[in-house]
This record gives sequence, structure tokens and C-alpha cells, in this order.
Amino acid sequence: MSFSSFIPPQRTLMGPGPSDVSARVLSALSRPTIGHLDPSFVAMMDEVKLLLQYAFQTQNPYTIALSAPGSAGMEACFVNLVTPEDTVVVCRNGVFGARMIENVQRIGAKLVTVESDWGRAVEPQKLEDALKQHPEASIVAFVHAETSTGASSDAKTLCDIARQYDCLTIVDAVTSLGGSELKVDEWGIDAIYSGSQKCLSCVPGISPVSFSERAIEKLKARNVPVQSWFLDQSLVMGYWSGEGKRAYHHTAPVNSLYAMHESLLMLKEEGLENSWQRHKNMHQLLADGLADLDIEFIVPKSERLAQLNTIKIPHGLDDAQVRGYLLNEFNLEIGAGLGQFAGNAWRIGLMGFAARKENVALCLAALTEAIN
Ligand code: PLP
Repeated sequence: MSFSSFIPPQRTLMGPGPSDVSARVLSALSRPTIGHLDPSFVAMMDEVKLLLQYAFQTQNPYTIALSAPGSAGMEACFVNLVTPEDTVVVCRNGVFGARMIENVQRIGAKLVTVESDWGRAVEPQKLEDALKQHPEASIVAFVHAETSTGASSDAKTLCDIARQYDCLTIVDAVTSLGGSELKVDEWGIDAIYSGSQKCLSCVPGISPVSFSERAIEKLKARNVPVQSWFLDQSLVMGYWSGEGKRAYHHTAPVNSLYAMHESLLMLKEEGLENSWQRHKNMHQLLADGLADLDIEFIVPKSERLAQLNTIKIPHGLDDAQVRGYLLNEFNLEIGAGLGQFAGNAWRIGLMGFAARKENVALCLAALTEAIN
């Protein structure tokens, strides 16, 4: 058997992530690797923290980029903030809410679930009812942008309710960060995590995380150590902390963090509000074109994510065959349905650098050919 270098095909990524990575970010990735405790690298990490504070709209000093994918960001929030004594209310309206539930179960905390239909936002009234019934609850968790369904939940209202019942909030912003309005401090979010590969259009494998002072207090007040050594934020803190000397914790993915720095810089240059608006504009363009093709959305208009469009597969078409055609003939990736929507929906991502007019035009032209 002989081997040669792997040269990936040139794709246009319009699925649920990873999204297209710009040449500028890829070029940052290829810069020389330096030591992860090199003073220049440490100075760059400080900038990453500041840029992440901007992206999350927070002043939280503990705002860092975890060296692991979004799933680790989720797990970091749960294992650090939830103890077996806690009662946690998890709102489930898709696959990722279900993963939150598994996290709570593995910790052995008491679980209360608030169920909403797939393809719909989490219903604030249901959360309030659950909190009235469970005054012992101490944490509320939900997914802001459910990538499995394309539904956006009202994070501000859900956090307001959680706060009224004196609960900390854990929010999944893997698909929302950079793509839709998100204001961590104004909305009173206590722990939030995201992913590099969605609307930040960076390479996969990094998870931005931010903890409020209340969350840090809860972490510090623990009387049992965090079960996971790698995800224990009281240890990771020494590595990312701006004050004094950095303590070795693990070897950061040096080049991926260059890429993260570059993609956050691009977001800052564009401006957060402009990025949110661009995602909305591209969504509208796509929605208009899909309407001309008589393709329907699954999520009601007011609850739709701009960056993840879940559409019904037109009657009589073969899911895998159409997606295969798009990939083979147009080098275009769109996503299959997940969970309850497997086989009857497609997910078209307009995330970060992929949220551009030429991508929308390509997608509509390719779909038109594929379905006719
Ligand atoms: N949460 C949401 C909403 C996601 O969309 C994803 C990934 O698609 C994750 C969590 C997990 O992130 P990762 O695949 O980077 O581990």
C-alpha cells in the first residue's frame, strides 16, 4: 500500500458546520508554530480573550478558548457548575438539549426537563411552570440556537425567568455566537460555550467559554473536586489567567489559536451587529429563492435561525441522492436532517464566511438542478 499527502477536495460548506474557512484564517493557521508559553503566544492569548469578550458582549474576566470542540465546552459548563446535590432544569427542543440532559444524568444531579416540540423555540411559560414546581432548582440550561432543528430560543427571556427563581444559567451558543444577537452581560447569562467552526468560521476544535462572577463563585465554593481533570476550570484558569505567571496545564493547539485570533479579528473588523445583519440578509435571500422552488421551512418564521435553515425535502425526492448530487456535481455540502428530522429535512447553513451572496446563488442553482 502506498501513501501520499492528503489533498482535500475544494468544497463549499453550507451544512450545519464546519462552515467555510476564509483564506485569511487558513493563512493564519499556517504561520510558524511557537511554544505555547512563549511570551508572544501568551500576549496573543490575551488578545483572544479580549476579542472573545467582544464577541460574547461580556466583561467576564473568565472568557477563554477551550482546547477542545463545542461538546467539551458543554461538558465544562456542566461538570464545573453542577454537583450531585443540584436540581437542574434542562429545556429540550432538539438533539443538543438532549445532550445536556445526559450531562446532568452522568453527574447524578436531579433532573427536571422542559419539553418543547422539535423545530420550535423553548417556551418560556413552560420553564416558569417548571421552576414554580421545583423551587429547589439551582440551574437552568438551554440551547440558544438548536442546530438540529434550526430553531432560535429567546435567551433573554429564559435568562430573566431563571434569575427570578435564583438559578444560574448554562447556555449553548455553539451556533449562535457571531451569527445572531447575543448579549451575555445584558441578558445575565452565567455560563456560556460556543464552537469555533460555526459562525466564527474558524477551524473546528476550539470552544469559546465564558463564566460570570456568580458561576466562578459557585465553582470556588465546591467541596468536591470537579470530576474531569482536563475540564476543571479552576485548573485551566491558571493557564489562561492574565495575572502573573502562566502555569502549564496542557499544550494549547497553538496554530488553531492563531486561526481563532484571526477569525475573531475579522468579526471585530466587520462589527458584531453588521455580522448579525449579514446573516439575516443572506437568510432572506435564500428564503426567497426557496419559496420560488416551493420548498418549505420547518420552523415558523419568527423562530427561525438565519444561520441554519431547516427545510422539508420535497415529496418524492431521495434525501441522500440529492445531497450526493450536490456534493459530486457542485462540490456543495448541505446537511441531512438529524434525530426526528432524519430523512425528511435538509439543513442549509449560512454560517460566518459562508453567509455570502455567491454561496446563496450557488446553493439555489444547484438545488434547482438537483430536484428537477
Ligand atoms: N451544541 C450545538 C448546538 C451544536 O450545534 C454542536 C455541534 O454541532 C455542539 C453543541 C457540539 O459541538 P462539537 O461538534 O464542536 O463538539
